[in-house]
Amino acid sequence: MASLTVLGLETSCDETAAAVVRGLPPGPGEVLSNVVFSQIAEHAPYGGVVPEIAARAHVEAIDGIVAEALAVAGCTLADVDAIAATAGPGLIGGVMVGLTTAKALALAAGKPLIAVNHLKAHALTARLTAGLPYPFLLLLISGGHCQLLGVEGNDAFRLYGTTIDDAVGEAFDKTAKLLGLPYPGGPRIEQLARAGQAGRYRLPRPMLGRPGADFSFSGLKTAVRQIVREGDFVPGDAADLAAAFQEAVIATLCDRTEQAMAQFRADFALRGPATLVAAGGVAANGAIRAGLARTCAAHDFTLEVPPVKLCTDNGAMIAWAGLEQAATGRFDDLTVSPRARWPLAHAAT
Ligand code: AMP
Ligand code: MG
Repeated sequence: MASLTVLGLETSCDETAAAVVRGLPPGPGEVLSNVVFSQIAEHAPYGGVVPEIAARAHVEAIDGIVAEALAVAGCTLADVDAIAATAGPGLIGGVMVGLTTAKALALAAGKPLIAVNHLKAHALTARLTAGLPYPFLLLLISGGHCQLLGVEGNDAFRLYGTTIDDAVGEAFDKTAKLLGLPYPGGPRIEQLARAGQAGRYRLPRPMLGRPGADFSFSGLKTAVRQIVREGDFVPGDAADLAAAFQEAVIATLCDRTEQAMAQFRADFALRGPATLVAAGGVAANGAIRAGLARTCAAHDFTLEVPPVKLCTDNGAMIAWAGLEQAATGRFDDLTVSPRARWPLAHAAT
């Protein structure tokens, strides 16, 4: 089969993004352009993403971002084989903007449409970047998601664990807010934690040692809040508390990942080397990567982390997931609806 070229649009949260990708499964693919407009500045005053502001910002930006993605790739709509867009899960206003734009482009250019699941796109990014074969274990850690999934094909996923309350990026952002740090808090906490002594505070390690691979982070955030509100907490203590918080997160992530590794090995009868992919904005955290690398080394897994630009929300991963689907000859019609919720897989029983 000749290689495919796909335009991908991403608008499910606070990034307006478009990209053109070329290749064939299993990858790696070629990223011809990858344009990301981050709305961080617009949401920063509110300490988090405001859905209404996000939807309006997507409407204003999307046309220009698509035009730029095509221009950088040196192609026109006539040159692409399909147009892919995130159809969920995400903030519904933003998803509607991207999917409707993709429908209009597909109709105008006479190209097939592909409605992409955003989580699937994160899951398949390591194929775009490294041509990773199935099956692999995925730890998706972002501002909106925290999941452990077995990825066995373009449309075959096993859910090993998910968060029962906050996503891990959300926990970083809320904790940062408690410590008086600006949004997004993840990178600030990581930076502050480098100067801190984690041992000064005893924080809970949610779910540690429990069966299954689910996550919980709200208790950790509450423990941080209690410490900050105690009378003797001074701003100079923030680095130690940030370090303690990050250490508790790492312990939880590694413990849950170990549980999922065992299930994954059993499900696929895998005895030899296996691969863990870490994706999502939180995977940018160096201390978390180091923790996961230790867990991987102890269980004969290789840790694969796509470059940060492709780990956080972007159009290239949407284009690639669309490309994998296009290669199977399955397209969506123009009546496909945006979905706020769209789970990839239900928990394996
Ligand atoms: P995403 O949802 O994939 O767009 O990623 C955004 C989330 O990742 C936000 O919650 C950030 O606070 C978080 N994040 C980004 N960089 C880091 C980091 N170095 N450490 C922890 N969290 C991070
Ligand atoms: Mg984002």
